[in-house]
Amino acid sequence: MNKFQALENFSESLDSGYSLLPFNFTRLDGDDYVLTNMVGEYLILARDDLQDFVKHRLAPSTEAYVCLKAKHFLLDLDSNAAIDLLALKARTKFERLANLTGLHVFVASLRCEHACPYCQVSRQSDDASRFDMSPATADKALALTFSSPSPTIKIEFQGGEPLLNFPLVQYVVERAKMLNALHGRDLQFVIATNLALVTDEILAFCKTHEILISTSLDGPADLHNKNRPRPGNDSHQRAVDGINMARSRLGRNRVSALMTTTKASLGRVREIIDEYVRLEFPGIFLRPLSPYGFAVKTKYYSAYNADEWLAFYFEGLEYIIQLNQNGIAFREFYASLILSKMLTPFGTGFVDLRSPAGIGIGAIVYNYDGDVYASDESRMLAEMGDKTFRLGNVHNNTWEEIITADVLLDALESSYTGSAPMCSECAFEPFCGADPVFHYRTQGDTVGNKPNSAFCKRNMAIFRYLVSRMREDAAVHSLFRGWIRI
Ligand code: SF4
Repeated sequence: MNKFQALENFSESLDSGYSLLPFNFTRLDGDDYVLTNMVGEYLILARDDLQDFVKHRLAPSTEAYVCLKAKHFLLDLDSNAAIDLLALKARTKFERLANLTGLHVFVASLRCEHACPYCQVSRQSDDASRFDMSPATADKALALTFSSPSPTIKIEFQGGEPLLNFPLVQYVVERAKMLNALHGRDLQFVIATNLALVTDEILAFCKTHEILISTSLDGPADLHNKNRPRPGNDSHQRAVDGINMARSRLGRNRVSALMTTTKASLGRVREIIDEYVRLEFPGIFLRPLSPYGFAVKTKYYSAYNADEWLAFYFEGLEYIIQLNQNGIAFREFYASLILSKMLTPFGTGFVDLRSPAGIGIGAIVYNYDGDVYASDESRMLAEMGDKTFRLGNVHNNTWEEIITADVLLDALESSYTGSAPMCSECAFEPFCGADPVFHYRTQGDTVGNKPNSAFCKRNMAIFRYLVSRMREDAAVHSLFRGWIRI
């Protein structure tokens, strides 16, 4: 018995008018459906138009036909260049893959003088200097960094608190610049720091070497200090003083901030945004907690669910829209990243919104002890005793061995949204990403069961919201266009 029908049963003739190009669809609301194709073009169609379209009954004179043709959902006898254009857009969307790893994270020290109960990296007390990276380990990590073919290299120092091992930061920056005289890459440095220990000398070094600062700011003083305890209970004041000092020495746009949502943040999203506006940041990244480190031990991660976080997020987004309508230019950065995928042919460098996943091939982590991990989350998992995503050690392995480690290749292949169960048929797949480490951590396998995945639930709700808001309100559509970042 033949398992498959003959080839002609799958081919469509253009004589009948048009043929369908590959697409996914889902009901948005009411009678409206959202259609997407592999390059991320999307379209909203009424149910009747969708039915006419798939049954080849759509007349070329209709608006739906024109839009479907323009966005590469159908091919007719006039569409000479359609397949070539589609291929070009597909290449553009995936062009980052050819560059391989651009972000190299150096864990300068696991020590920290803060004691945040939601800490995802399981920091160590600040006198435990055995948790510092040594120059010998940094040398090996730098050799691996420059083995990546990426034309842009960003070295990000993380911790713990990397300023507790600032001599190592200085060593890496100076050595990387020396090596780059040979390699000629577009080289950038970032220090992720709570700024509590920043000094004029540190900032003078950052100025000389054009180092960017990324800090943490969870909202108004009482909330920030509750989330981020340290001796003296003055984390917020130190962060604000540090931001002002860094801005005055390095320039306003050289300093950015990140927030983390805890149970105590829920219900306070407007105050949190107001604090960012007060401190003249151009936007905010409303981030949920991740299931790693002390965030799990202290039960901070399980203190709220995806629905509670989404309510917080959407209230924040609506408030930001209002601020813009009142003349205050401000954006939400996660929405910006997604909108860039929705409204342009370009992919994103943001690890959580990439497919194949960004672990290893987008960003890689050199831990203080020389172990190499596929992502920041992978090393957080390792600090919890699970070294599944350890790719090797800088002292023992070559770049080729690390980047072709079975655990990395298997995770990339199995989690690819173009073929993963549910994702491959999801209308929002072109906007989404794969997070194999999150799904391994929460569900025990790198693919994940998407109906039970908080990652999927959060993303799908945000995709629906953004598409619906742009359909309903031309002013919001235009505002969101202004948030695009390429
Ligand atoms: S994770 Fe969810 S939203 Fe993302 S592509 Fe898969 S099914 Fe769609």
